[in-house]
Amino acid sequence: MHVLICGAGPTGLTAGVELARRGVDVTVFEARDAPSSLSRAVGINPESLHRLGPSGVTEALLAEGVTYTGLMLHRGSQPWAALDFDAARPERFGRRHMFGLPQNRTEAILAAALARHGGRLRRGCTVTGVAQDADGVRLTLDDGHTAQGDWLVGADGTHSRVREAVGIGYPGHRLPDVWSIADIDAPGWPHRDRVALSLLPEGRLAAIVPLGGARLRMISNTEDALAAEPFGVSVAHVHDTGQFRVALRMAERFREGRVLLAGDAAHSHSPAGGRGMNLGIADACDLAERLAEGGIDGYSDARRAEDRHIIAGAERMRRVVTAKSRAARAATLAGARLITALPPFRARFAANFLYG
Ligand SMILES: Cc1cc2nc3c(=O)[nH]c(=O)nc-3n(C[C@H](O)[C@H](O)[C@H](O)COP(=O)(O)OP(=O)(O)OC[C@H]3O[C@@H](n4cnc5c(N)ncnc54)[C@H](O)[C@@H]3O)c2cc1C
Repeated sequence: MHVLICGAGPTGLTAGVELARRGVDVTVFEARDAPSSLSRAVGINPESLHRLGPSGVTEALLAEGVTYTGLMLHRGSQPWAALDFDAARPERFGRRHMFGLPQNRTEAILAAALARHGGRLRRGCTVTGVAQDADGVRLTLDDGHTAQGDWLVGADGTHSRVREAVGIGYPGHRLPDVWSIADIDAPGWPHRDRVALSLLPEGRLAAIVPLGGARLRMISNTEDALAAEPFGVSVAHVHDTGQFRVALRMAERFREGRVLLAGDAAHSHSPAGGRGMNLGIADACDLAERLAEGGIDGYSDARRAEDRHIIAGAERMRRVVTAKSRAARAATLAGARLITALPPFRARFAANFLYG
């Protein structure tokens, strides 16, 4: 069996690793000439670490990344409630922590594992067309060549060419906020193992995610994460800033004949809860196992149900932390204090955050 994969983001690379380690012939096509240097997704959840264990990827991720023991909720600049992940009950996937690594490093580790397991990665190779019949799939590439395989995985992100080529709709809508990030150095920031989240008036939020060493990721649902931060961080250096908008969408189906969709090509949602990359990794692991074991038929329904459930949770979280009214913000802050005070609530909150 030869599986073609369009896109070498975390989803496509994971699918490649998981197929290659099971002995499947895999070729990944990536439009970009060189690896991305963008740190986009940071949070890696216990399920992803569990799934990536057998390929050796988890060990490499853990050797480089940061462990998060909890969330410190702030009211403006004032620490308000410490929500500890190790309260999670029951424990799943053998871990009670979140883990963080910039996405470009996660992708580099996945690409190294793909090569180690015998998969091929062709960079600078854009997929321009897809044709399929009962016997296989044929890709047209921008250099005029074609590639032939038994299956195609469309892991080519939100604007997926593969999804469009096979006529799968991507219904949904754009969310109103503009989000922004800033990756900075702040040697004086004291909370190196916690994510800090501040609820600000009028539904604005600001968060700080440690990236290891002096480096921090600031994120906000405003146009300028640096200007929005209420914590009084002393910024030594700004590495990178950016803005992005988010949409809430899901592909009508994740399979059309011999073509499968996974990751952002299949669903898109807000960064609340840091689910995007983890869902892509879960889709990729699921389809690789099913393809290798000959049970792909249930893939679309099973993943759509699971992803819908996780995205609904992320949406609830986004609505709660970005609620505009004073009363809603006061209720969230009071609820957070209640969670910290009552062990069963603490356990439930931590389990929801870690495991979805
Ligand atoms: C600022 C920011 C912060 C985020 N933080 C988090 C977080 O903390 N946790 C989390 O889980 N998620 C987070 N996300 C979301 C996460 O980055 C995405 O969900 C994730 O990158 C999706 O991975 P993917 O592989 O499905 O798609 P992508 O990463 O978009 O990869 C798609 C790849 O396909 C390639 N491609 C596209 N078209 C073609 C073509 N025609 N031919 C060949 N190649 C093609 C692209 O070049 C790209 O490399 C964040 C996103 C942003 C923007």
